[in-house]
Formats: sequence, C-alpha cells, structure tokens
Amino acid sequence: MVHFVGAGPGAPDLITRRGAALLRQADCIIYAGSLVNPALLALAPDGCRVYNSAEMTLEEVLAVVATVEQAQGNTVRLHTGDPCLYGAIREQMDALDAAGVPYDDTPGVSSFCGAAAALNAEYTLPGISQTVIITRLAGRTPVPEGEALAGLAAHGASMVIFLSAGMLGGVQAALLQGAYTPDTPAALVYKATWPEERVIRCTVGSLAQNGRVAGITKTALVLVGGFLGGGYTRSKLYDPGFTTGYRKGEPV
Ligand code: SAH
Repeated sequence: MVHFVGAGPGAPDLITRRGAALLRQADCIIYAGSLVNPALLALAPDGCRVYNSAEMTLEEVLAVVATVEQAQGNTVRLHTGDPCLYGAIREQMDALDAAGVPYDDTPGVSSFCGAAAALNAEYTLPGISQTVIITRLAGRTPVPEGEALAGLAAHGASMVIFLSAGMLGGVQAALLQGAYTPDTPAALVYKATWPEERVIRCTVGSLAQNGRVAGITKTALVLVGGFLGGGYTRSKLYDPGFTTGYRKGEPV
C-alpha cells in the first residue's frame, strides 16, 4: 500500500503523529527532495529503501512502488507541507488506481501556515480580509488564464504566493496591477520553521528589491495584504456584547 504523507513545512516535529508512525513502519520512502527535512528520514526503520523524487520521473516513482507492492510492502510518499498543494499527487493516485494499488493520504502542516506562524500573523483579520488566495505566478508551469496574478490581485484579499520567489519582479508588477498599492504590507518568508528561516517584512513596492538584497530566489513564500499591517476590527466571537450559541452577550 502507498501512504501519501505531508511532512510539514520543515521542522521535523511538525509532522503529524500519524505521519511519523507511517515513516517508522515504511519499507520504502520516496521523499520530495530538499524541501523535506532529512531529519524525518532518520525515522526510517533498518532496511527501508529511501529515494529522492526530485531526481525521478513519475514513471520511475511508479516503478519503485510496483516493486514494493510485489513484496507486499508499504511505501511512504513523503511530500512537503501538505500534499494537497502543488504536490502532483492526483497523477500519482490516478496511476495507482489504474494499477489497482491501494493508497491513503495523511495531511501535513502546509508552509503557508508555517509562514503565518513565523510572522505571528492571522490571514483572516476582521475588517481587513476574510479570504486567503493561494496561488503562484505563471512561469515554466502555466496558470489558467482566469487565474493570472494581476486578476486575482483585484480582490485585495490576503494572498500567499508559492513557487515564485525567483520571479519577484513579475510578482510585484502583477500585484500592483490589482488592488494593492506600493505601500501594501508584504513579507517574504524563506524556509519557514527550518533553523535557517528568514522573515523579511516589506511592502509590495519594495518586494523585488528586498528579495534581491537578501538573495532569496527559492524555498520562500510571498505573503501580501493588509493583514500584515495595523488596523482591524475586533472579532464578533469574543465581543462581550455578542451572543453566540455558547455565551450570552451583555450590553456594553
Ligand atoms: N505542498 C507544499 C508546497 C509545495 S510547492 C506545502 O503545502 O507547503 C514548493 C513551494 O512551497 C516552494 O517553492 C515554496 O514556495 C513553498 N515552500 C515549501 N516549504 C516552504 C517553507 N518551509 N518556507 C517557505 N516556503 C516554502
């Protein structure tokens, strides 16, 4: 059987207990290259075969899985963050379905959560934004036309941009075509939750320059929006005057 597992954003103690248990029982681990902390591979039992999928094609991954299946073993397919974001898991699952190989999926802490934690930030600040847009800039991998960054930027929502740290000039230009201004708060978070984590708070207008000066071109997220600035309204949930199903509000 194949277990897709989210490794979390980097810190080895941010994998789930279920994910760690699956690693300890694996006959084979296929991990997603440098984005997975090597400390997690140390959980592999003696005799476990370990492969780096960054050096493999989909066909090669499937061939390894097939040999493990023949021996009735368990493969852990270890993806960074949560497998559901830019993990290319669907094509693997469809191929496993076609081959009659069973699989399941154990979630992980995505890097967009790790980056928010590094900034002590809340994406959904009342009065600022109640929406998080997760996207990327079109590069060698295209993005559907209706999802061009400049178009999504029209909403002015909280935004997390993956896989685009090497194109910060393009990111900045696209953001400025939307609802953001040069003064809109932004941040670059490099290797969130790793020991070498770096957090750069800046503005949309200074994003590309900050990335250049810091020499950040990969393994980073761009966060954008008013949630990184001051000014918001209090939550209703914890407002003394607001009645919920669990608490009666008092006039204030
Ligand atoms: N499934 C992963 C994303 C894989 S795509 C997740 O849920 O996080 C790879 C991209 O994710 C990187 O190019 C970078 O933009 C981002 N990324 C992954 N780990 C990161 C980390 N620890 N800090 C900052 N960005 C990270």
